[in-house]
This record gives sequence, structure tokens and C-alpha cells, in this order.
Amino acid sequence: QANRFREKDKADRATHQQVLDRRTYLVLLKLFKNGLLKEVNGCVSTGKEANVYHAMSPEGRELAIKIYKTSILIFKDRDRYVTGEFRFRNGYARSNPRKMVAMWAEKEYRNLLRLSQAGIHAPVPRAQRQHVLVMDFVGDDGNAASRLKDAVGQYQLTKEQLTRIYWDTVDIMKKMYQDCRLVHADLSEYNLLYFVKTEELWVIDVSQSVEHDHPHSLEFLRRDADIINKFFRNYGVHTLSARELFDYIVDAGLASLKKRAAHVEKLRAMCEGRSMADIPDDQVFLRTYIPRTLQQMTLKMFTPDQEEDPEPTAGGTATSMEAAYHSFVTGIKTAAGEESENGEDEEESDEEEE
Ligand code: ADP
Ligand code: MG
Repeated sequence: QANRFREKDKADRATHQQVLDRRTYLVLLKLFKNGLLKEVNGCVSTGKEANVYHAMSPEGRELAIKIYKTSILIFKDRDRYVTGEFRFRNGYARSNPRKMVAMWAEKEYRNLLRLSQAGIHAPVPRAQRQHVLVMDFVGDDGNAASRLKDAVGQYQLTKEQLTRIYWDTVDIMKKMYQDCRLVHADLSEYNLLYFVKTEELWVIDVSQSVEHDHPHSLEFLRRDADIINKFFRNYGVHTLSARELFDYIVDAGLASLKKRAAHVEKLRAMCEGRSMADIPDDQVFLRTYIPRTLQQMTLKMFTPDQEEDPEPTAGGTATSMEAAYHSFVTGIKTAAGEESENGEDEEESDEEEE
């Protein structure tokens, strides 16, 4: 009895201090009652789509609670991300903002689970109810790890440190795609956290992440690759080109970790060995049509600017695109790639060890 009162009291306090609505209050109350929460503390972040709070579990683990806002306007422009989502097929959720927001929270929960299970530094999700997601806290003693954007200045990160962080980001993208079959779709210096104590890079904010076979996944991946490269290049890091990064991520010939590591070493050496000016230009790649399905290969092409125009852009003939599509999606292209002189035999023997 006394316990029940205390839980209610805690939920009450959290609700008043943070000005939460009644629905949120009821969800928090339930989480307290179920022993998933012990206390809710201050706000870590107030965003357009969600607020994040620091909390504690009964076992003394630090938690982050992400509370999505139930405003339909904000979620409207997310339509692109749910195209092809099974549960959106009847459009039932679109007209119900509460269901829709709950779905984003659930999606983030599932995606975080997949990421953390694949060994990626992403918060382990602990609970999700309606529009409330509970996950592990990145940081310690109530201090959240900095967003990469802020960490650069805050910790005066050197070019060398940023180079290492760049390749950590590349690794996260690769693992996400190959091991979790996901494309982040909103990857940037805002959704990467740098925990200075351990020098670890963490990825967050994966509610909009899509399956690798989502109709827009490759476009999202290309955009992620471009945004990440531009951020790091701005600080003098010798990055891959967006195309090179994209190719590396989708290369299904690099399933084994050993092959991946060897390939990344080659890529790093290549990047270090060339000047910024020698990084291949991405203008054409960024505008080239990306096929969504194999069937679509034979259909008309479009560029982002010209939805209706069937003219292919440079290099975009149906046959060359089909070959490209085949190579990067079905994995016919091997880790050795076209540009590599050595390795065919080496790759074979590696395969046998697996
Ligand atoms: P959105 O961008 O939709 O508002 P995010 O998931 O990116 O939501 O979270 C917003 C901010 O909250 C992040 O930039 C980060 O500072 C903080 N944050 C989110 N999740 C965690 C977490 N698990 N641990 C620590 N801080 C977090
Ligand atoms: Mg974010």
C-alpha cells in the first residue's frame, strides 16, 4: 500500500516538475509500478519531436526516457520513412497521431534492440509504452555524452581524433547495414554522441531508420554518407567520397569481419594517401537515380529534380545501372572489387576459414 502511494507520488512529482500531460503521467506511473523506473530526473534535451529525461532504474542503472510529442504536424513529414511499412498499409495510423507516435517509439525500440544486439554502441532499449521509450543512458552521473557536433569544440578534438571517430562512424554505418539490415536515415553529428571518458562514439535516434529493402533506403544511405563525409571533411579529415563510402557499406562481399577489417585498412590508406582535392567529386553520384527494386531497373529513370523525366543521368543507362544494382545489392561484387589488383585468392582462402 505504502509502495503504491510512493510510486504515485514519484510519478506525480516527475509530471509536475516536467510539465507532462496526463497520458504521459499514466505511462510513467505504470513504469514505476512495474519496477522499471525508480526516479525521473531532469531534462536532458528538448527537441522538436521529443524530450529526453535522465532517470534511474531500481537496480541503479542510469536511464534515458524519450517522450515523443503527440503533435500530428511534426510527424506528417515522416511519411516517406513509413512507405512500405506493413502496418501502414491501410493508412489507419496516419489519421491517429497517438497511434502514429506510439509506432515511432516502438520502431525506435526495435531498431535500438537490433543495433545493441549487433554490438553497435547504441543505447539498449529497456521498455516502451505508447509514446514513451526507456533506454540506457549514454554518459554518467547524470551528464549525457555530448553530441558529436558539440564535442568537437568542447573537447578540442584533434584531426587525428576526428579521423578515428570518422572511421568509427563508417563502421557503425557498415554494421547497421550489413548486420542489422538498417539504414539510419537521419545520421549526422546531431545523432552521434561522443562519450569523452571512454572515447566511444554512440549512435542514437533511430525511430526513422528503415530496413535495407525499404523503397528509399539507398537514397537515405547516400544522403547519410554525404552528410557524414561533409561534417568530417570540414575539420580536415581525409574522408572517402560519398560514393566510395556508399559502395563500401552496401558491398555484400564483405560479410566476414576479417575481410571488412582488411578492406577498411585499404580504404584508410587510400584516404590518407591523397589530398583533400583528390577526393573524387560526388556531384554525379548524388544526383544519379538509385534503383529501388530489380524490377524497377527496366522502368524509367528519374533524378531527384526531375521526377517525371525519363532521361537517365550520366552513367545511368539501364544496363550499367542493372549491373551496378546487381553488384551492390546481391553481393556479386567481391571485397576485392574491380579496383583491386591482388586478393582474389586471398579472399577465397578467407572464405574457407569461415
Ligand atoms: P530528437 O532528435 O528526435 O529530439 P534524439 O533521440 O536525438 O531525439 O535525442 C535528443 C537528444 O537527447 C540527443 O541529442 C542527446 O543529447 C539526448 N539523448 C538521447 N538519447 C540519449 C541517451 N540514451 N543517453 C543520453 N542522452 C541521450
Ligand atoms: Mg536527434
